Amino acid sequence: MSATAPARLANLWDDAKAAGMTEPERLVYRSNLLGSDKRVTNYGGGNTSSKIMQKEPPPGDDVRGLEGSGGDVGTIKLDGFATLYQQKLEGLKQLYRGVAFEDEMVGYLPHATFNLNPRAASIDTPLHAYVPRKFVDHMHPDAIIAIAASADSKALTQEIFGDEIGWLPWKKPGFELGLWLGKFCAENPDAKGVVLESHGLFTWGDTPKACYEQTIATINEAIAWFEGKTSGKPAFGGEAVAALPAAERRAIAARLMPIIRGLISGDRKKLGHFDDSPAVLEFVSSRDLRPLAALGTSCPDHFLRTKIRPLVVEFNPANPDVDALAATLEPAIAAYREDYAAYYARCRHDDSPAIRDANAVVYLIPGVGMITFALDKATARISGEFYVNAINVMRGASAVSTYRGLDEQEAFDIEYWLLEEAKLQRMPKPKSLAGHIAFVTGGAGGIGRATAARLLREGACVVIADIDETALGAARDELAIAFGKDFVRPVKLDVTSEEQVAAAYREMAVEFGGVDILVSNAGISSSAPIEDTPLSMWDRNMDILAKGYFLVSREAFRFFKQQKIGGNVVFIASKNGLAASPNAAAYCTAKAAEIHLARCLALEGAEHQIRVNTVNPDAVLRGSKIWTGEWREQRAAAYNMQPDELEEHYRKRSMLKRSVFPEDIAEAVYFLASDMSAKSTGNIINVDAGNAQSFTR
Ligand SMILES: [Zn+2]
Repeated sequence: MSATAPARLANLWDDAKAAGMTEPERLVYRSNLLGSDKRVTNYGGGNTSSKIMQKEPPPGDDVRGLEGSGGDVGTIKLDGFATLYQQKLEGLKQLYRGVAFEDEMVGYLPHATFNLNPRAASIDTPLHAYVPRKFVDHMHPDAIIAIAASADSKALTQEIFGDEIGWLPWKKPGFELGLWLGKFCAENPDAKGVVLESHGLFTWGDTPKACYEQTIATINEAIAWFEGKTSGKPAFGGEAVAALPAAERRAIAARLMPIIRGLISGDRKKLGHFDDSPAVLEFVSSRDLRPLAALGTSCPDHFLRTKIRPLVVEFNPANPDVDALAATLEPAIAAYREDYAAYYARCRHDDSPAIRDANAVVYLIPGVGMITFALDKATARISGEFYVNAINVMRGASAVSTYRGLDEQEAFDIEYWLLEEAKLQRMPKPKSLAGHIAFVTGGAGGIGRATAARLLREGACVVIADIDETALGAARDELAIAFGKDFVRPVKLDVTSEEQVAAAYREMAVEFGGVDILVSNAGISSSAPIEDTPLSMWDRNMDILAKGYFLVSREAFRFFKQQKIGGNVVFIASKNGLAASPNAAAYCTAKAAEIHLARCLALEGAEHQIRVNTVNPDAVLRGSKIWTGEWREQRAAAYNMQPDELEEHYRKRSMLKRSVFPEDIAEAVYFLASDMSAKSTGNIINVDAGNAQSFTR
């Protein structure tokens, strides 16, 4: 019995809730209920429709259909639905010139738009429109696709559902499949749904509730049937290797992800995601891993997200030699690219778009788990989720029959479908730091948080590291709300601890895949005349400012050199690293050490395309933890004034007579961390509103 066998789906329909809704609201409700469980449909997969009467100006009743478009049914809102005249969709049949021309029908769909709704109709619109029932669900349930992807899927469908649920052979979604569905319904008026080979499920009903319940009941019937068939049987031919303990799995992923990332990041850097959930571990540790993985995925949705097939990394967890494994990655990845190019060459048509990125999306490591890479973190995560759907499908299909992936040519025709290409071409230009990973120390403080926000705004993923756990939690929440959960990870870090620094980088490697930008910013300050400076104050400055900057830089260099795709270090030093300040010898000296460390690292890093630059702020009081408490009072005392007079004092002291804010420092960091400064290293930018003492020379 598999540890990951699914339980039955619950019927979540609430009559009391639905009673007070309009028909369009009930469609949203039905869709969200269905999409709330990934066993019903994968993220972004499937769609729903209702054929209902609505009014549009000028007054008069008209039939229109409401149909879900390309979004995610679990989270779709009313404005996510396309609205079309059912009559006009019927009329389109007169324009159909046959299957060879079915793609041109997509261009006619906007002519059926109801009420000027700008939401584009999806490619699945004819599938819904030509089923002559008022309420129609199209889902991608793992349990149904397991049947649909079996070699004898027609016979299995008949065995499980009898005449209640029909079966149609594989056909790429589009106008032709819509006509097939219409014909099926005309010939089988009592059928309650149909399984589409290698794809998914269509179900329908005369009320929204009946439609929903039919979908849930059909999936539950399949789940129950699988339970009966697979109970007591080991999945995937049984275990071939034992999974490693969780900590070792993560440690190995942390080693491998930066190396893979370096090998597959071409013009655009990629982001990684690691998954070692039970379903993944069972599959990657099984006897049938290699033959099943080689077959690729089945449902077109799974396939589009995960490429033609995953790359199985050759690794024996019983004898875990990670160095040897790392050395085999390069030839394995090169071989995958060659295979992919051969697949493209075999399947391409005269008018096919040019070959796209030939690297694998999914990397399977026996005993360890699954790593996925994509151009952004959410896509990497979602691609992993899709492969888990594919694993569930393979588990079911291979237990009761022979699993079949999508036919290679059909797969190619979907991957390089001109309509898909048009969608890709319409994608907005990526932001300047998309795909980049930044590590910001002191990330919960004023300058750190502003810097994280600036880099996030440019599309980077950011690890905020800070010793203050409370502030870290607050910063993480604030940044995640502003920029999305996928982009931010907090890590508690004492920069003076060699072990903690190494652990924080490992965490970053597992969460995002590596590192591109280090912003070393964590700091303190202190003030005392030299004769009153205790050794502890001297050491503390040297520990956090000099040693801390050294440790986080050394670790960054180690990762940069593994990735071999360059790197970028920005030090937040201080005006006081260049200009002496009264009664702050320990602080000023440690800041000077940072500035010189940056120059040394710029020299060492250049041949590896690692740039190292420094930003020197001065008197950034707002939001700064340094400027609360003692230091503020000490500085005020040194200038013989009240603490709340300091900001104004510094403003007046500056040449430009302006205050310096965390956002000003963040802007300089962004400049140095981005390609805008691609030809600069070993440089210093003062952001201090002008101070002649700190002019560089
Ligand atoms: Zn579908």
